[in-house]
Amino acid sequence: MLHSPQIVFTVKKVTEFNLIYNHINTQSIDRPDVLTGIGDDCAILNIPEGYSLAVSMDTLVCGVHFPENASAYSIGYKALAVNLSDLASAGAIPAWITLSLTMPDADKFWLNDFLEGLFALAKKHDVQLIGGDTTTGPLSISIQAHGFVKKALLRSNAKVDDLIFVSGYLGDAALGFKAYNEIPTILDGCKARFDQPEPRVGLGLKLTRIASSCIDISDGLISDLGHICEQSKCGAEVNLSKIPLSEEYLSYFTKNDLYKQALTFGDDYELCFTVAADLESEVLKLSKSLSLPITCIGKITDSEGIQFFDENNKTILFKQKGYEHFNES
Ligand code: ADP
Ligand code: MG
Repeated sequence: MLHSPQIVFTVKKVTEFNLIYNHINTQSIDRPDVLTGIGDDCAILNIPEGYSLAVSMDTLVCGVHFPENASAYSIGYKALAVNLSDLASAGAIPAWITLSLTMPDADKFWLNDFLEGLFALAKKHDVQLIGGDTTTGPLSISIQAHGFVKKALLRSNAKVDDLIFVSGYLGDAALGFKAYNEIPTILDGCKARFDQPEPRVGLGLKLTRIASSCIDISDGLISDLGHICEQSKCGAEVNLSKIPLSEEYLSYFTKNDLYKQALTFGDDYELCFTVAADLESEVLKLSKSLSLPITCIGKITDSEGIQFFDENNKTILFKQKGYEHFNES
């Protein structure tokens, strides 16, 4: 890259390297499969014998993916969580990340809080930061996550009559987001479901044995189950009364608006997956062993698209599908 005049080049570079070596390169994790990490032109890595490498990237932009007043800690945590969630939906074991960080100025206090959040989640999953890029500009964070997988879960392998399951509760992230504007008194637990979602890594890993397809719910169930249907060339029937909603969610949303947020807001980072009907008991066992609610919400059909039914077996149509960038409506 061309830098001019010369004096600006020198000052900027010192700040950039100071941030990289005194702040970013401070992670306690030191994996043996990282031969060279931060500090050289490339990271040099070992992939274990018999595994494929699963790679995923997600970007968080200020004002689009998180509000301007989100804490640096939660931005760091979430930037990693959304990427680990993609690895989880493939059934991969997380290993390494690279980080492209664009910040308006070299604010080391902000950076330290951001890294504290990021490294806290990284520690839980033994994930090492192995490189990246640091630039100046409007706040934006891209992370590329790398994991190992023997037999990856895909979106494309659901079969007719498979049962459809979701982990956890849907819509709590939508409720948590409201803490930023409409309902500041919202319970901390719900705010955290938006700010610090829990990537379902342990579940994804176990599902490689039993699930036929899997996706993480980042854009809302309608959109994400829709991807499974499109890519598996099938349809789905979903029973609305089976959609798992938390007590907090039920206490805030009215009957008329009950399912819209849970099905279209996204950001829950739960897993939606399909399993052959004769393996249903395996899912129940998994739910118990992970202490994680897992709910059967419907089944795969040979039609097109998703049909929702209410408790009276009446078909319900949703106009809004889910979050989509560049979509004006
Ligand atoms: P280069 O000019 O060769 O691309 P840089 O000067 O940008 O290298 O970066 C120096 C080292 O610091 C590299 O190993 C790079 O991967 C690492 N690095 C830079 N920014 C980050 C970041 N935000 N997170 C992690 N590592 C980073
Ligand atoms: Mg270089």
